[in-house]
Amino acid sequence: MKKPIHTVMNQFSVQDNSLIVGGMSIKDLAIKMGRTPFYAYDKQVIAQKVETFKKFIPSRIKLHYAIKANPMPDVVQFLSGLVDGFDLASLGEMNVALDTSMPSEKISFAGPGKRQEELNASIMAGVTINIESSHELTRIIAGAETIGKKPRVAIRVNPDFELKSSGMKMGGGPKQFGIDTEIVPEVLKDIGKLDVEFMGFHIFSGSQNLSAEAIIEAHNKTLDLAVRLSEHAPSVVKKLNIGGGFGIPYFPGESHLDLAPIGKNLETILPKLDESIPGVDVIIELGRYLVGESGVYVCQIIEKKISRGETFLIVDGGLHHHLAASGNFGQVIRKNYPVAIGNKIQGKNETVSIVGPLCTPLDILGSKMDLPKAEAGDFVVIFQSGAYGYTASPHAFLSHPPPLQILV
Ligand SMILES: *Cc1c(COP(=O)(O)O)cnc(C)c1O
Repeated sequence: MKKPIHTVMNQFSVQDNSLIVGGMSIKDLAIKMGRTPFYAYDKQVIAQKVETFKKFIPSRIKLHYAIKANPMPDVVQFLSGLVDGFDLASLGEMNVALDTSMPSEKISFAGPGKRQEELNASIMAGVTINIESSHELTRIIAGAETIGKKPRVAIRVNPDFELKSSGMKMGGGPKQFGIDTEIVPEVLKDIGKLDVEFMGFHIFSGSQNLSAEAIIEAHNKTLDLAVRLSEHAPSVVKKLNIGGGFGIPYFPGESHLDLAPIGKNLETILPKLDESIPGVDVIIELGRYLVGESGVYVCQIIEKKISRGETFLIVDGGLHHHLAASGNFGQVIRKNYPVAIGNKIQGKNETVSIVGPLCTPLDILGSKMDLPKAEAGDFVVIFQSGAYGYTASPHAFLSHPPPLQILV
């Protein structure tokens, strides 16, 4: 039986009936910020996630952070000291990554439509470009000739299998991501004739997965595929990025992903990989898993309204700040993110809906939730907000001020 996740998420403590984030009560944090709404990311929670990864996953596997999940410079800076590399999805992210002490040979760039300036910047910085089409390869060569530097390239493979039980599938079948497995040998042949440094393969199949079994199956298939493809490689395969997709629980009935069986399986299958591709660097890239649980989104109640028997807490934040919590970021059926009244963790409950200030019925942060009785001025906290929160939201919609952010 899966246990439901609780209203007060166990990565944070509670003191004097208030939630503590980064060693501070929500009220103190709000005073420090000067205004609501804001996102706060707790360093200790991020560090703890990296620890958990290291505890269960074999030490020879390198951990990369996928910056897309949370590109806040302080977060990326903090993670630069904890992980072995970064994965980028844009030039903007590259700029954030290169501002840290992470060496460029530990940074890779994936994305289906990289602009020429993005390719050029990668070549100049020495960032590995995960090629996603053969035309992209010709654009890389053109850029490299102008710049006069040898580009580092890897092939992003669109695998011939899917990651089962994945929240967002990004491989298998027809996809805009990566090069279809069937074509990879041809592209490898081309690479062999060109003046590039061949790094290896990137095989990413999906995101937000809570099934260890599904991830294990994907790892087995990914390693098999890498072995098959390596036979066509023009030079030694230095790096094999086997993707990530480790999820975090958001909704009742979901529980934390168990890394123990995933680590055990990797322990078993890695020797086989070493026989075919000796000394290859194996990389797992994670975004959400590392930062998602560290973050809270905090807003303040402006109005409490009763309409035909239903109670609404109208807050100063909403879907323009936190699209995912409103249910409009890829969800098929809207479900409530875990929520608490930050300064009243316990109390007599009432059923309320939490809505934002926008003039659209889509602006819901919590629908008919049982929460301690709250009033105007109290703080609503949305958990699991450290990934795909701030930067995955349409701040400009309705011209309200953007939320603030802090790493504590
Ligand atoms: C989005 C993305 C990730 C991060 O996914 P998470 O679910 O946040 O871990 C990793 N790699 C690639 C290629 C991506 O596009």
